[in-house]
Amino acid sequence: MIVMKDVYKRYPNGVVAANGIDVQIDQGEFVYVVGTSGAGKSTFIKMMYREEKPTKGTIVVNGIDITKIKNSKIAHFRRGIGVVFQDFKLLPKLTVYENIAYALEVIEESPKLIKKRVMAVLDLVNLKHKARMLPDELSGGEQQRISIARSIVNSPRVVIADEPTGNLDPETTWDIMKIFEEINSRGTTVIMATHNKDIVNTRKHRVIAIEEGMIVRDEQRGEYGYEI
Ligand code: ADP
Ligand code: ADP
Repeated sequence: MIVMKDVYKRYPNGVVAANGIDVQIDQGEFVYVVGTSGAGKSTFIKMMYREEKPTKGTIVVNGIDITKIKNSKIAHFRRGIGVVFQDFKLLPKLTVYENIAYALEVIEESPKLIKKRVMAVLDLVNLKHKARMLPDELSGGEQQRISIARSIVNSPRVVIADEPTGNLDPETTWDIMKIFEEINSRGTTVIMATHNKDIVNTRKHRVIAIEEGMIVRDEQRGEYGYEI
């Protein structure tokens, strides 16, 4: 569960990107975050995995008040959250297998368990046969599937995705959506910032709309609500 109470974020340049946010997202929800460019969507989701710290307010994620945790505990906290980016952020010199295994190697899991988990998540995204390849040998959609596999290999309770289909063609976008929905159907919370009107209006889920750092709309099975 994620709870934000009276959250403000003012960047050093004076921009207020979160302006009094109160929200609760329960375990297992699927939430779209929509809003115009610069509205504060990225700031909103970055605060959930402590990439940005709010200026004021409290944020509790999986029972931990992440506005109060020590810097030394942040890495441990982040292991409970999967993050997927628009530009994939795969390590170019590592194979697909190694990119996914990396998160488990740093926590010194056994090679046997690592292999089992990596192959299981590769199976989920249907890319077991590409395990030996390098990221730039894959299409954009395949790279995004790998980055989703990487995000879930630690079995996080929450997966956060910032415009995950922003660089993909429409057909690939639907494949990626199916994977997120499959992950969600297994009980993982999915929070996705998106500009994709078709997706939001077709694959209905909760919609949180942000403008000027405020939640201006929050609806179960909501609509995209913008023209583009
Ligand atoms: P969105 O994801 O909806 O496009 P952002 O959260 O990225 O919105 O940005 C909200 C506002 O905060 C914008 O005015 C943006 O320019 C500003 N902003 C975002 N990140 C920073 C930063 N690191 N430093 C200063 N201003 C920022
Ligand atoms: P399966 O048993 O499902 O056929 P394999 O064990 O044959 O899977 O592995 C499938 C792919 O994963 C192969 O390309 C293999 O090179 C790669 N792979 C498996 N284990 C490792 C590892 N420890 N390091 C790097 N690549 C690996």
